[in-house]
Amino acid sequence: MKLLEYEAKQLFSEEGIRVPKGILVGKHEEILLHMDAIPAKVAVKAQVDVGGRGKAGGVLMADRDTVIETARKLFNTTIKGLPVQRILIEERLEIRHEYYVSITIDRTKKQPVILFAETGGIDIEETAKTDKKAIRSISFCPLLADVPGFLLRELCGDAPVEIQATVNRLYHVFCHKDALLAEINPLVTTPAGVYAADAKLIIDDNSLARQGIVLNRDLTEREREAEKHGFSYVELQGNIGVIGNGAGLTMATLDLIEYYGGRAADFLDVGGGADSERVMHAVRLVSGVPTVKVIVVNLLGGITRCDEVARGIIASGVPEPVIVRIAGTNAEEGRKLLAEKGYEMLDTMDLVVKKAVEVAS
Ligand code: GDP
Ligand code: MN
Repeated sequence: MKLLEYEAKQLFSEEGIRVPKGILVGKHEEILLHMDAIPAKVAVKAQVDVGGRGKAGGVLMADRDTVIETARKLFNTTIKGLPVQRILIEERLEIRHEYYVSITIDRTKKQPVILFAETGGIDIEETAKTDKKAIRSISFCPLLADVPGFLLRELCGDAPVEIQATVNRLYHVFCHKDALLAEINPLVTTPAGVYAADAKLIIDDNSLARQGIVLNRDLTEREREAEKHGFSYVELQGNIGVIGNGAGLTMATLDLIEYYGGRAADFLDVGGGADSERVMHAVRLVSGVPTVKVIVVNLLGGITRCDEVARGIIASGVPEPVIVRIAGTNAEEGRKLLAEKGYEMLDTMDLVVKKAVEVAS
């Protein structure tokens, strides 16, 4: 997940990297409430998830008298097609020099790699193309808690020592936040010291839970419920409820529904090794979607046992017809249980989907 500049700056600052004082606003009128804290000269920065904001008009300079009007204009523009919903108003830095630093993972070496250029700023991509030597890089053992001093000196060359310290702090952010990318461009020197004038941080999606980051900030009630049970769940617009195990099988079921002219109401992958209780919750969840007329359960028993699946379906007691295809581990037993309760079962995916489309229409 890519964080916005103000979010990244917050995390950078927690690791001791100096960032400009800033105020985040969602409307230009809000600035009035903060006038006391607005310095004489400011940078007005659109918080949008695109690179090259500056060149696209997303970073404007203003002073105390013009800041509200500047923000109003910026709120009324789009930056590379994205609406501006938040603006960061920062004390304007008196930039002496702009450096570039970026930390990522070299997948071939299986090591962190740090890139550094003595000429950072908005033209870094051009610089990288025209002058191959402009960007230096180092990589080292990921077990080290700090970037080794000799490598920092090699990397940063003639840049001030404080720049080296900042690169090391950025490495701490990179490690502690499970980042895939941590970048400061430009990293600047000013009469007041070294600052991260910009900030970019991409966090590995696999570690969002550990980092306590909630990805979908506005989930529906049902999506929240699905998350609680650990289902991969997406709500769609159709009337055929879908429950599968494994993303591939579930996607294939959706494709087949489309193929036969139906519309799926959801994507729900119960995951591996689902027991009867999980299956019951899944069926009830899908049954709760108001548009659902029929539910297709397409499960392949591996570690998942089909008799458990059958018990879950029966326990759910939902009013909609549930059409089942189960195959694999304990399929016989599962089928027997379902047959006793009068559930419709078909042998192939093709047949269950065809049937469901028929019922739904
Ligand atoms: P980007 O275009 O999305 O990378 O946005 P940046 O935050 O990097 O800003 C673009 C450029 O604006 C920087 O490279 C700086 O040259 C300039 N800039 C940003 N903040 C300040 C500031 O506080 N003072 C000055 N003088 N220039 C700034
Ligand atoms: Mn930048």
